[in-house]
Amino acid sequence: MKYPPTAAQARVTEIFSSLQGEGTHLGEKHLFIRFEECHIHCGYCDELDKGGRVMTQDEVLAEVDRLETIEGPHGFISFTGGEPLLYLEFIKPLAAALREKGFRIYLETNGILWPALKEMIAVVDLVAMDMKPASVTGEPNFDRDHRKFLEIAKSKETFIKIIVCKTLVEKEYLDEIEIVREIAPETPVVLVPLSAEIEGHEDPELMRLLRHLQTAGARRIRDVRIVPRFHKILKIK
Ligand code: SF4
Repeated sequence: MKYPPTAAQARVTEIFSSLQGEGTHLGEKHLFIRFEECHIHCGYCDELDKGGRVMTQDEVLAEVDRLETIEGPHGFISFTGGEPLLYLEFIKPLAAALREKGFRIYLETNGILWPALKEMIAVVDLVAMDMKPASVTGEPNFDRDHRKFLEIAKSKETFIKIIVCKTLVEKEYLDEIEIVREIAPETPVVLVPLSAEIEGHEDPELMRLLRHLQTAGARRIRDVRIVPRFHKILKIK
């Protein structure tokens, strides 16, 4: 990592109050803590160029308290990024301190760093994990890690997010659905269209693909949803 974190400090891109824009808690008011770096580079990522600044645990806690007072209550504190699990040494005690204050912790993660998840699952309330098809990200296949990750995550409320664009190879998608079916078949899978157009409902080809994947997935597991990124539609952070 460019800036190795410690238990005392980490690089934080931003802390802000907004609506949850993705997944099964869509539209809830959450307080977001965004960490700076990621260990992979998805071709579509729009977060990696955002710089951060060093913050201590006390500074983060003070900012959370300030925003909670002005804009709260928030349903969850969302750790996001980048990849928050890169900051295990920092976020584990932070999550514990926030839970002591009565907050619930929502961990938004790429679903790869399962040893770190294992270390901190006890202080997480909800895991929003990605499964990343290589045909969408341009990165290697992470299914072995996704499998181990879900094994750990399933002890808490969990949902899985799969980004879909027209380059998606269906077999990769079905392999990921199969992992869910084997390990935690009740887990909701959320298909997220990667397209500015579909968020305005104007790409029939992508919409057809999404409906096809939803049907194929729902023949194997119980809950497969199509949920566009709400914050992109509303043009909010
Ligand atoms: S895992 Fe998330 S933060 Fe990391 S590169 Fe991919 S989209 Fe960006």
